[in-house]
Amino acid sequence: MQSTETSAWQGEWERGQVRRRPRTVHQRAARHLCSSCGRISPKKLPHCPTCRSVCYCDRECQRAHYYKGHKEDCEEFLSPPLDVTFVTEPIEGEKYARDPIFAQHHQDGFGCWVSIKTSPHCELQLLANPTRANKDAHPRLPGDPGVTLDDLDNCNAHASNLLTLQVLVQNRRKDKKTGLVIGSQSRVVSFGKSTEDVLKGKTTVDGVTTFRLDEQLFASVPVAYDPFDKEPRLLVKNVDGIELKEDTRPPPAVKNAEKGILALRPGQYAILQMQYRVGDGGSIRKDWTALRLVQTLTLPVIVPWEEDRSLTAIEADFARDHAKSGATPLGMRVMFDQDAVQEFFKDGIKGGDEAHIRSHYGEKGVKKYDRETEEAKRKSLDIVKEFRRRGGTLEEALVFQLGAGMTDEALLTLLHWEED
Ligand SMILES: [Zn+2]
Ligand SMILES: [Zn+2]
Repeated sequence: MQSTETSAWQGEWERGQVRRRPRTVHQRAARHLCSSCGRISPKKLPHCPTCRSVCYCDRECQRAHYYKGHKEDCEEFLSPPLDVTFVTEPIEGEKYARDPIFAQHHQDGFGCWVSIKTSPHCELQLLANPTRANKDAHPRLPGDPGVTLDDLDNCNAHASNLLTLQVLVQNRRKDKKTGLVIGSQSRVVSFGKSTEDVLKGKTTVDGVTTFRLDEQLFASVPVAYDPFDKEPRLLVKNVDGIELKEDTRPPPAVKNAEKGILALRPGQYAILQMQYRVGDGGSIRKDWTALRLVQTLTLPVIVPWEEDRSLTAIEADFARDHAKSGATPLGMRVMFDQDAVQEFFKDGIKGGDEAHIRSHYGEKGVKKYDRETEEAKRKSLDIVKEFRRRGGTLEEALVFQLGAGMTDEALLTLLHWEED
C-alpha cells in the first residue's frame, strides 16, 4: 500500500471512525444523589461498601435506607455499582438507558450484568477493526507487515459479525474471599434453531464447539480470537470506576489485561468489553439480530484460588475441567432477557436506522447521522475516483475501505462504481 493511502486511512481513524456517545454527568451514577432522601450534593457521597450501587449523605440516611429494603436489594444484587461509564437507567430526558442491561445473574457471591457496546446504526463489528481506539490503533490492511489478503479472508475479517458486550462483574462475598475472573474463557451459548445461524461464521481461528443436551444442539462461542494481535478480542475497561488507559500501569486487581484475568476482592468490580463472533455477517449484521441468537453468556469465576499458583496453570486446569464437562461451558451462567433486547431496539427493528437514532439520540443525533452519511458519500466518491485513476478494481477499492472499517463508504462505493 502506498504511503499516501496509509496516511489517508490513519486520518479516517483519527477523525473518529468509532462514534462515541457523549457522556454527560449523571447525578446518580456520579454519586451526587442520595439514594435515601433524594438530595443532590455538590460533592461525591460515600456509598454502600458491599454493593456500591447506592450512596448516602450520612449514616442516618444509610440506616433509614437499609431498613427500607436496601438490605435485601444489596444481597439480591438488584443493581450494579454506580459508574458513569455503565449507566443502566435512562438519564433525565432520555428515553433509553445508555447501557441497558440485557442479562444479569448472581452466584456464589459474585454478580454479573451484561450490556452492549452499540453504534448509532447498531452494526456488528469487523475483525479488521482494532479493539483499542487510541491514536496508534489502526485497522489491519493488506500491506500491513505480516497480514495478507488471504489472512483476512481466512479469518472472515471483513464480515460485520462481532457482537460487542460490556460485562460488569462484582464481588459481594461475605467471607472476604477474593475471586479470580477469567474473561478470556467467557462464552456465549446459542441453542436450537439459532445454533445453525451462529455456526455460519465459524472460522479456523475460532474455538467454537457444539454440544447436545436433551436432543438440542448448542453452540458455545468463545471470545473471538484476533490472529493478528494474537490475543482474545477483549478489553479491561474499568476497575472500581477507574478507566484503564493503555499507557498507565493497571491496578493490582488486573492480573493479566490481555486475557482479562482479574482478582476481585469483596466490593470490587470491573467492566470487561468482549467480542463474540455470531454468524457470517450476511443475514446477521445488526446487534439485535445477533442478540436474538444467543441464550446465555458464561463467565468463569474461581473462588477461592491459590494465589501462589501461576495463572497459566490455573487457566490450564480450567480448560481441562472444561473439556471434561462435555463442552458445556463452565462459569457463571447469565441468561439474556430477550424482552429487554426487543424493547431497547424496537424502534430500529420496526423503522430502521433513522428511527433507532431518533429514539436513542434525538433530533440532534439524526442531524449528525445525516451529516456523517453525506461525508461518507463524499469520501466514497473520492476513493472510487482514486482507484479508477490508478486502474484499480472495484474489489480492491472495497477491500481497502472495509479494511479501514469504512463500512458505510464501502456500501456507497458499490453504488458509485456503477454510476459514472
Ligand atoms: Zn440523604
Ligand atoms: Zn449495598
